Amino acid sequence: MRITDLRIHAIAIADPPLRSSYGLHAPYALRTIVELESDAGVVGITETYGGDAQVRQLEALRPQIIGANPYRLTGLLSPMVEGQGSGDARSQLHYVPGENPLDATTRTYAAIEVACLDLIGKTVGEPLCDLIGGRVRDEVPFSAYPFYKHAGGGGEGADARPDEYGEALSPEGLVRQVQQMVARYGFGSIKFKAGVLDPDIEIETVKQLYRALGPGVPLRIDPNSAWTVETSVRVGRALAEELGRGGYLEDPVAGLANMGEVRRQLLAEGIDTPLASNVAVTSFADIPESVRRDAVQIILCDHHYWGGPRQVQQLARLAKTFGLGLSMHSNSHLGVSLMGMAHVAAATPHLTYACDTHYPWQSAGDEVVLGGRIPIVNGCVRIPDLPGLGVELDYDQLARGRERYAECRYRKRDDEAEMRKHVDPNWRRILPRW
Ligand code: MG
Repeated sequence: MRITDLRIHAIAIADPPLRSSYGLHAPYALRTIVELESDAGVVGITETYGGDAQVRQLEALRPQIIGANPYRLTGLLSPMVEGQGSGDARSQLHYVPGENPLDATTRTYAAIEVACLDLIGKTVGEPLCDLIGGRVRDEVPFSAYPFYKHAGGGGEGADARPDEYGEALSPEGLVRQVQQMVARYGFGSIKFKAGVLDPDIEIETVKQLYRALGPGVPLRIDPNSAWTVETSVRVGRALAEELGRGGYLEDPVAGLANMGEVRRQLLAEGIDTPLASNVAVTSFADIPESVRRDAVQIILCDHHYWGGPRQVQQLARLAKTFGLGLSMHSNSHLGVSLMGMAHVAAATPHLTYACDTHYPWQSAGDEVVLGGRIPIVNGCVRIPDLPGLGVELDYDQLARGRERYAECRYRKRDDEAEMRKHVDPNWRRILPRW
């Protein structure tokens, strides 16, 4: 089998004004859809980060991809998977996921690997998860992902979308948002994006969530490194009960040394709430120091930037070896990515937590998967008995996504710039803020 064509589609999808410590989501999130076609006319697909830089990185691989055997291509490209460096520079401390030049080759490799696996799966008639070791679950649990948000449903002008969830800039607003999301999708875990309002308001938000949902629903809080060690310990103490029932405290503070110090101080008070991370630990090279310092007890994997499905499986094995838990990180995405995440999760036994997903924030009108949005039922995505990722592209919808990209003015993600444009002209990201 040979790859005879590579098609790269830069698309834009509506995204609501969600807040985090990085700033504000723009009205459009950028994604890239890639197709690899074989000499038998079979098409493998993938979805990854968006923007002009991502397109250029994929385009640069064209000479190696065209004519390649999809079974061998990832071996040929394997030096790309290491990326460059480790520690704070390589981490997601200063870059939103998808914008860090130091993991650019890892991200690009991951996209190619998924497209190759989808192509192989569709050629041999087997689901992707069964190509990479076989599924250990048919249904993959996902977590609700509530955000503080401004009013608006994403998109601009005539393309502005209805605001399904409304504004949520208070504990009560956030609880309403979660209840609405749980009623629609049946999520059984909650991952709350914090680092936006004063920590006392965010503590109160988690307490109200806990009261509204009960102790059976694990709660996670993720301020994306917005806090000091002192604030992190204070929040960990205040929410010991609420986060202690299968939840976690995610990246409260910047850097592995500080994470380790928060852990030490909480343990000294008898508080065993695990610390999770997708900011301080984003590559294999981060793991030795993290383990040495006991800085992170749960690693968030993400095949999009960890280097593809098989790297995630290796990460899982390593996490299990060191007694660490594994969860899954998410960015704004469509159904191709969701199915990629679900297949990786299905074939990763040591995935001990429900995966994050932004999927409820995206609109049906933007979906590029044939047949429309992937159902999330009882908080789970079911692996269909179909080859590869189990989804095909809707080419009309893909064309609309390309038009949106051509018409919108965004070419990279910059949450800080959006914050200055729409909320506070003097805003800048301060770490730690509290
Ligand atoms: Mg995070």
